[in-house]
Amino acid sequence: MFDSLSDRLGSALKDLRGKGRLSDADIDRTCREIRLALLEADVSLPVVRGFIAKVKERAKGAEVSGALNPAQQVVKIVNDELVGILGGETRRIEYAKKPPTVIMLAGLQGAGKTTLAGKLGNWLKKQGHQPLLVACDLQRPGAVSQLQIVGERAGVKVFAPDPGTSIGQTGELGTVSSGDPVAVARDGVAEATAQHYDVVVIDTAGRLGIDEELMRQASDIREATEPDEVLFVVDAMIGQDAVSTAEAFQDGVGFTGVVLTKLDGDARGGAALSVREVTGRPIMFASSGEKLDDFDVFHPDRMASRILG
Ligand code: GDP
Repeated sequence: MFDSLSDRLGSALKDLRGKGRLSDADIDRTCREIRLALLEADVSLPVVRGFIAKVKERAKGAEVSGALNPAQQVVKIVNDELVGILGGETRRIEYAKKPPTVIMLAGLQGAGKTTLAGKLGNWLKKQGHQPLLVACDLQRPGAVSQLQIVGERAGVKVFAPDPGTSIGQTGELGTVSSGDPVAVARDGVAEATAQHYDVVVIDTAGRLGIDEELMRQASDIREATEPDEVLFVVDAMIGQDAVSTAEAFQDGVGFTGVVLTKLDGDARGGAALSVREVTGRPIMFASSGEKLDDFDVFHPDRMASRILG
């Protein structure tokens, strides 16, 4: 991802090299090229407009002094503004003062929630936590067993309704209510409290498209479990749709942070560059492959450096 954007930005900025002074015309021309590069990468139009306006204003006002030559100054400005639209500071999980910390995952089907639950469990464990994964995607066939498989791989316990059992049956980790995802979520959190797990990761159902029932269910789970973090999981490959999906989840469920998945894909990456700016919520994690370790905290500064090459 970002290869073609990196190339385009690189060549736009390369033209400035060697110039002792930058005229306003130089800056306008460079900004025009940056604008095209961002639009081609599928970054949403309002985000592009805001970005270019800031770069232009700062580049034209830049002092022609100091350690950096004019071209380097513009590169620095573009870098700073990229870090800005990606969220500025790295945002970490806010753990509850009184455990367990509840983290709920929400997003469309196929976004990578179940895979992410395993990765997050694996990561949390490495950070010294004792996570419990809770399987509340009772919609997609196989989602519960998929979570059990990733949990096992990560060496993390999974709280799940037994397939085919009726409400109130005893599962591996205690009493669970099958069939009702809200009850499973609530039971999962109660189980974590009773068994001293300090972080609960709730996997929820997605739909292929946004629909009211999906939103209501996710919103009911949120109300029932009062999560400390609601992470909106979004496939970075879906381009502009990522922005409208994010807005719909923002209205329907609300979320505290974003997880970008499939950053290993060869899409243009504009979603990654738009979603923070459009929703005002920070990108907290990034997933870049199917393996448990293809996952990390999202660092805006590192991502900006990667994009600028
Ligand atoms: P869910 O419906 O949101 O729970 O999505 P899944 O976790 O089942 O993921 C859907 C598909 O995307 C699966 O085939 C995953 O292996 C794959 N997947 C998830 N995250 C990534 C990623 O970061 N990169 C790639 N290449 N594939 C991913």
